[in-house]
Amino acid sequence: MADKELVVYVDGDWVVKSQASVSVYDHGFLYGDGVFEGIRAYDGVIFRFQEHLERLYNSAKSIKLQIPLSPEEMTRPAVDTLKRNKLNDAYIRLIITRGVGDLGVDPRKCRTPSVMVMTEPVDPTYGSVANQKGITAIISSFRRDMVDATTHEIKSLNYLNSVLAKLEATDAGADDAVMLDRSGFVSEATTTNIFIVKKDELFTPPTSAGILPGVTRKRVIKLARELGYNMYEKGLTPYEVTIADEAFLTGTLAEIVPLVKVRGIVIGDGRPGPVTKSIMDAFVKIRSDPRDGLPIYEKTERIVSRK
Ligand code: PMP
Repeated sequence: MADKELVVYVDGDWVVKSQASVSVYDHGFLYGDGVFEGIRAYDGVIFRFQEHLERLYNSAKSIKLQIPLSPEEMTRPAVDTLKRNKLNDAYIRLIITRGVGDLGVDPRKCRTPSVMVMTEPVDPTYGSVANQKGITAIISSFRRDMVDATTHEIKSLNYLNSVLAKLEATDAGADDAVMLDRSGFVSEATTTNIFIVKKDELFTPPTSAGILPGVTRKRVIKLARELGYNMYEKGLTPYEVTIADEAFLTGTLAEIVPLVKVRGIVIGDGRPGPVTKSIMDAFVKIRSDPRDGLPIYEKTERIVSRK
């Protein structure tokens, strides 16, 4: 028997995925006016849920978007959507749009923001081929949005900056693009943060480089220190990336992906390095640890996950 269709939470109701929609007058659709979060659940534990919520509400605050639910109230639709879809290992997308307005850009015309929660099954081994082999990147000619403009510190619905860089990478036959900030310092990749390793020390750009302050990035910084490495947040030049011993990208869906070639220059020996591997191994150990997230099931209500 075919699996039942997944359901999506839309403004207080659950609707089947094929019927879940927003108005063409929603400013999230018309102008990218809204915010979102991408979150993983591993074995029934929502990884770093509190931090994702914090980032969501900070993003919303910075664009003067009043989310109709409190952070505590937002937990319910996230947990319930996972449960209704019988998912233990999943990707969760929380979306808050400005809501329905008129065709003008003025957000004051939008009375009520819309809240949506999508959950999709993701196998915990997702991306393991890329993670074992590593990926390649160009350095994009598109600069990361400026921190005094549509900065990626805000996780907004406007990802055109990343889309352009991704298209450029694809055209060049690379997997992804490293993006620079206005002054030429390394910012991040299209949907991941970047780390480099030099002489067993780790470096990652600071938020002043216009990065999204990644939840995975933050956990990896802590993990690196727990593993005894010196870990620094500092401005990185493209030169420093190309002469690094190792480099890797971090993100919710990607987890930790070794970067083995940048702008045609092989990083280290072109294979995932020992420091990267030690971080990857340590990450797999903590990602479903209830101390690192929100367990969604009581012991007695554990369910069999859909495939
Ligand atoms: N930068 C950008 C632009 C992203 O979209 C993402 C994915 N959310 C990241 C970095 C990584 O952040 P996180 O670890 O929170 O997924």
